[in-house]
Amino acid sequence: MKYWQIIAQSYVGYLNYLIRELREPRLQSYFWYLLLISVLVYICELIHPWRVHQARIRRDFWLDGFYMFFNFFLFSLLGFAALSNVASELWLDAWRGLGARPFVLLNLSGWPTLVQLVFYFFLKDFVQWNIHRLLHKVPWLWRFHQVHHSVREMGFSAHLRYHFGETIIYKLIQFIPLSLLGISVVDFFVLDAIAIAIGHLNHSNLYLTWGPLRWLLNSPAMHIWHHAKNLPPERLAQAGGVNFGLSLSLWDYLFGTAYLPSDGRDLRLGFPGDETFPAGFFAQLWPPPPATGEADATIKQHNQR
Ligand SMILES: [Zn+2]
Ligand SMILES: [Zn+2]
Repeated sequence: MKYWQIIAQSYVGYLNYLIRELREPRLQSYFWYLLLISVLVYICELIHPWRVHQARIRRDFWLDGFYMFFNFFLFSLLGFAALSNVASELWLDAWRGLGARPFVLLNLSGWPTLVQLVFYFFLKDFVQWNIHRLLHKVPWLWRFHQVHHSVREMGFSAHLRYHFGETIIYKLIQFIPLSLLGISVVDFFVLDAIAIAIGHLNHSNLYLTWGPLRWLLNSPAMHIWHHAKNLPPERLAQAGGVNFGLSLSLWDYLFGTAYLPSDGRDLRLGFPGDETFPAGFFAQLWPPPPATGEADATIKQHNQR
């Protein structure tokens, strides 16, 4: 009964939140922030594009725009908000059932807020870097992730082209390591805003390397290689891909998966076998399209070894 109430409250709560967000344009609102950062990056792409011959309204521009708002807002309305609230209540109930408080591996709550935020940002990015590697290594996870790699022409909104299954996979896997942190920060908007801005830039048609900061921050020059259709077989066999970083490039440099052999401006994007990948939103969503082509074969070969 309690869980049904949580589900009902989550729906009403999320719907009210969404209406409030739309009604009150302000920067500390995910909807308006996402819109603003998208417009800003798009203006930069128009003024100073890296691939000058790419159309201003590139291939799949509108499809990716829809993915952006579906994944960020509509998907939660369809049930994800309810599901994640029930999951966290079940987690707390499990601890209560054991007669214990949720286990805290590392208590940061006495640390200055800024230090807590920076620590949390690095840890979350590292956990997500590992999840991203899994998405490339495990064949059934790769089926979901193919949607993101089906981008043929790159622009800022490709950032949020992904199967909704990825949201569930990321949240499920990162839930436990992040919940082991004792943290007193309640508002993570600034961290999310930074991650969204870096993610938009990573996929943008802009030439950015971040100079000496390239060892720390991911960039479009680096992330384009993550989307390369053809990579050296030894790189695929080794890790299933290259440059898995989300906001940070640090983990790729530390763990040997960084790959930036030359300027990747005119790289062919996609994955081997993507010629038969469906083009529309619904066709890409359900069921996850069967993996075909060499990329999948490479992963399978690697896993059989
Ligand atoms: Zn990927
Ligand atoms: Zn990407």
